[in-house]
Amino acid sequence: MNMQQPWVGRELTSAERLHSHLGNLQPEQDMSTTQTHNATYNEMLQHPKWKAKRAQVLARDAHQCRNCGTRENLQVHHRQYHRHKATGHKLAPWCYPDRYLITLCDACHHQGHQQFTVPCHLI
Ligand SMILES: [Zn+2]
Ligand SMILES: [Zn+2]
Repeated sequence: MNMQQPWVGRELTSAERLHSHLGNLQPEQDMSTTQTHNATYNEMLQHPKWKAKRAQVLARDAHQCRNCGTRENLQVHHRQYHRHKATGHKLAPWCYPDRYLITLCDACHHQGHQQFTVPCHLI
């Protein structure tokens, strides 16, 4: 796979790095539009297919947070969410191409979600 990393080539500040890692995010403007993960979505994160996908992303990222480099409390973040036009349902978390997934530690992940809204695209 040919992964074009936009931040390669110069030293980025940690805020810029987090921003580029998190995808094409826009600063949060209206809290009411924030996507909250519901119970069903959290249940899906326990699914064996997600565990397999997650393991694949962790392996690709060498089990390190892509923002700060720690190896502790790692999570896999979705840089975009996709929603089916017809049904309005979110895609299952394991159905995303790897390029939309990134390894972040708990702290960077939280920080990212506080600063930015994950874009949601209709497919
Ligand atoms: Zn981190
Ligand atoms: Zn996330």
